[in-house]
Amino acid sequence: MENTEVKQIMLKGGEFLIKETVPSSVFIPEEYSEEQLMVADAAKEFVEQQVLPNLDKLEQHDIELSKKLLEMSGEYGLLGTAIPEEYGGTGQDFITNSLLTEVNASAYSFALTMGAHTGIGTLPILYFGNEEQRSKYLPKLATGELKAAYCLTEPDSGSDALAAKTKAVLSDDGKHYILNGQKMWITNGGLADIFVVFAKINGTDFTGFIVEYGDEGFTRGKEEPKLGIKGSSTCQIFFENVKVPVENVLGEIGKGHRIAFNILNIGRIKLAAGVIGASKMATSASIQYANERKQFKRTIGSFGAIKHKLAEQAIRTYAVEAATYRTCGNIQHEEERLLGESKSYGQSLLGAAEEFAIECALLKVAGSEVLDFAVDEAVQIHGGIGYSEEGPVARAYRDSRINRIFEGTNEINRMLAVDMLLKRTLKGKIDLINAAQAVQKELMTPPSFGNGSNGELFAEEAKAVKNMKKATLLVAGATTQKLMAELQEEQEILMYISDMMGDALIAESVLLRTRKLVEMKGEAACSAQLDMMRVYLSDAMERLGLNGRKALKAWAENDELRMLLLGLKRFTKFEGINTKNARRRIADVMLEANEYCF
Ligand SMILES: Cc1cc2nc3c(=O)[nH]c(=O)nc-3n(C[C@H](O)[C@H](O)[C@H](O)COP(=O)(O)OP(=O)(O)OC[C@H]3O[C@@H](n4cnc5c(N)ncnc54)[C@H](O)[C@@H]3O)c2cc1C
Repeated sequence: MENTEVKQIMLKGGEFLIKETVPSSVFIPEEYSEEQLMVADAAKEFVEQQVLPNLDKLEQHDIELSKKLLEMSGEYGLLGTAIPEEYGGTGQDFITNSLLTEVNASAYSFALTMGAHTGIGTLPILYFGNEEQRSKYLPKLATGELKAAYCLTEPDSGSDALAAKTKAVLSDDGKHYILNGQKMWITNGGLADIFVVFAKINGTDFTGFIVEYGDEGFTRGKEEPKLGIKGSSTCQIFFENVKVPVENVLGEIGKGHRIAFNILNIGRIKLAAGVIGASKMATSASIQYANERKQFKRTIGSFGAIKHKLAEQAIRTYAVEAATYRTCGNIQHEEERLLGESKSYGQSLLGAAEEFAIECALLKVAGSEVLDFAVDEAVQIHGGIGYSEEGPVARAYRDSRINRIFEGTNEINRMLAVDMLLKRTLKGKIDLINAAQAVQKELMTPPSFGNGSNGELFAEEAKAVKNMKKATLLVAGATTQKLMAELQEEQEILMYISDMMGDALIAESVLLRTRKLVEMKGEAACSAQLDMMRVYLSDAMERLGLNGRKALKAWAENDELRMLLLGLKRFTKFEGINTKNARRRIADVMLEANEYCF
């Protein structure tokens, strides 16, 4: 990111809640370089020419076709973008790789075939493999000659991944580990050659292994009949006395959790990038249909109820996109900083993703829920044809649902986000306690009236975002002070707080994106984006206030509750704009362009 002349305020992970930053410190999607856009175009071309004409066949579980397309995507250079040149890849930066994930999303379930191969299948070897393992596997993974999968989940261990039962025992001659167990829901399970497998050595030391298909005792189950993403392969994997050479231990013995959890951070933010691509597609399909379809002698896009839906699809997509690429930019910046400290490539990206693990978890949740909303409204806007397999959105509707389940379910990610925030506080990495105390102190002073804007652009919105953070700190601070360790068992409250954190993060990001955009292009060229930002802020403030009230009412009573609710009310006051009219304006811009155009 080149913003050298302007002031930079780079925040650490989780600090978005207690500190402010400036537009010049965030990356926004309007800043892609020509090279990044060229990589995205190559991916678009591949998907349009090679994947989309084959979607129906892929959904019939044509495994050979999946393999062929994966190899072809390797020829297009799409499998090696995260792999450094020395191992046969092109070593693109994190933002470019995230943009690629977004573009690939238009390949429907084939995006998952590519994503599992390049992400959870390849990255553990790139980041945790030794030199020999990297040289042996990565060049062939970059071309697609070898295809990869990742085996963590088991029938009895899903969210509780460390409860895995798959066992590895060292052979008498010390040359192999003997693997026994069963894995479940393995993406690319039916086509991969290389599997990153987690097993417990002697039933205790959770460890990663690289296992090659073809070894005796290694079998794949039948393809799972799934609700959606039917064109991706998912099956069980069985290990019966499979001999894995000791050279194929991945990373350190007993440190498999480091691989599993670190890869998940990257997976979560990549998932957020992917769902943005799919949301834009669903919104564009909705706009095109709204322009075409006539009822009561009018196009349905001329009805306020439909404009509301179209605008809302766009607003939520634009907002979560702002926060996702802001976080991708933060991760990339931190990665570059760590590389500058002579950390290895793997340590740098993993360290950077770990630093922003809170944001990754929040955006996985928010992004997957935005896509579910966008596809649901796409079906609704299409009416009966939306429900038909021959229409353009039924597949997107079915394919969307998985995103709330994998890469950690949304419940787990919500709770994790709060848990990580509290842990960072306890470790002294983020000064949440002082910030929460400052908010409580502020409540002792009389409120200032008006929005303090003096007509300045963004002043009211900036104050609203500041107040969202204060409201979140008020609720999170008072709740943790009161419930202490008991909070772990109060999951409902954790979820409310997590949603407040998510709203504060996204609201600030959408404001920063829009401010930066106005600085780049001028106010007149960004009127729809200004509307989107203002509607988002208005709705986010209402949601945040509601979640705060629910959280407080879950434990506080009488005078204490009344005091806290008053404080919350003070911080969630926001006049905002006429959101109905703003939504109409946003929808009209898109109806005119006949697509999602932001
Ligand atoms: C299509 C598909 C592809 C997949 N691909 C892969 C893959 O390639 N590799 C791989 O290893 N795995 C893969 N998975 C597995 C996926 O990661 C798991 O399904 C997911 O982690 C959830 O685990 P589970 O299904 O066992 O659900 P469970 O963990 O049993 O969860 C069931 C419900 O209980 C909730 N829950 C669980 N624990 C708690 C708790 N502590 N507090 C509150 N609520 C809780 C969950 O949120 C969820 O709502 C895939 C799954 C699917 C469906």
